[in-house]
Amino acid sequence: MPELPEVESVRRGLVEADLRAPVESIYRSRKRLRYSSSPRALVGARPGALDRRGKYIIWSFHGERGEGSGDGERLGLLLHLGMSGRCGVAAADKPRVPHTHLILTFADGRELRFVDPRRFGGFEVAPLDELYARPPIANLGPEPLDPGFSGELLAARVGASKRAIRDALLDQHAVAGIGNIYALEALFEAGLHPLVEASRLRPSAWERLAEALQQVLRRGIDNGGTTLKDFRNVVGAVGRNQDDLRVYGRAGEPCPTCGRALKGFVSGGRSGVYCPYDQSRRRVR
Ligand SMILES: [Zn+2]
Repeated sequence: MPELPEVESVRRGLVEADLRAPVESIYRSRKRLRYSSSPRALVGARPGALDRRGKYIIWSFHGERGEGSGDGERLGLLLHLGMSGRCGVAAADKPRVPHTHLILTFADGRELRFVDPRRFGGFEVAPLDELYARPPIANLGPEPLDPGFSGELLAARVGASKRAIRDALLDQHAVAGIGNIYALEALFEAGLHPLVEASRLRPSAWERLAEALQQVLRRGIDNGGTTLKDFRNVVGAVGRNQDDLRVYGRAGEPCPTCGRALKGFVSGGRSGVYCPYDQSRRRVR
């Protein structure tokens, strides 16, 4: 499932594609997505700034009547990749792949194509201010790569939780953009047991964890994201971060630090992995 680094890689790819021509036409499949709204309002609109919050891309569009007509004309396209969603930019004459659910055709002959075989992703078109002011965006926790992010902030969000720290980190209200891969990698880097109760962690552990989260997320972005199966960037290329994962998906293999066998577990219905030696359950500071 795409997490912050994968979504950020897509956002950067869209920025690089530098789409500026207005939307000429829209195709929407008849298939139900996890959520969607009518994209019709985007016809005639010009693409603008690309933002990201957590695992969401927020693309602003200027309405047909152009600048000077007030904030009401600023539209937003919210994109969520779900489990298997892809956003690609292609020439309009390139054949469509199966499971293409949304296409914006721009006046310069290029297209944005949203492809999602499992249809857990989706999109929404609404006035930009509205998209920011309501869920899911309004409910997201802090951005872990923002300058103000810290262990103190993380502790304030989830420090009272009785849940296992790995599970608490997956809650998008606690911190935005973290999924299983980067949670497990960060806990390994911070030397914290993934099943330790969040409320037991001391301030020094929260600081280490906040730094580890930033480190693994930055590495993920630098590597163009992690591709385990489905993830592709906007030009259809796989990420490289899967080669740099230290523990994720490696239960039973030797720990990259101490060489002892990494151990798998399941909590909250999700699998995980840790090093029993480097991530002692007793370590809370
Ligand atoms: Zn180890």
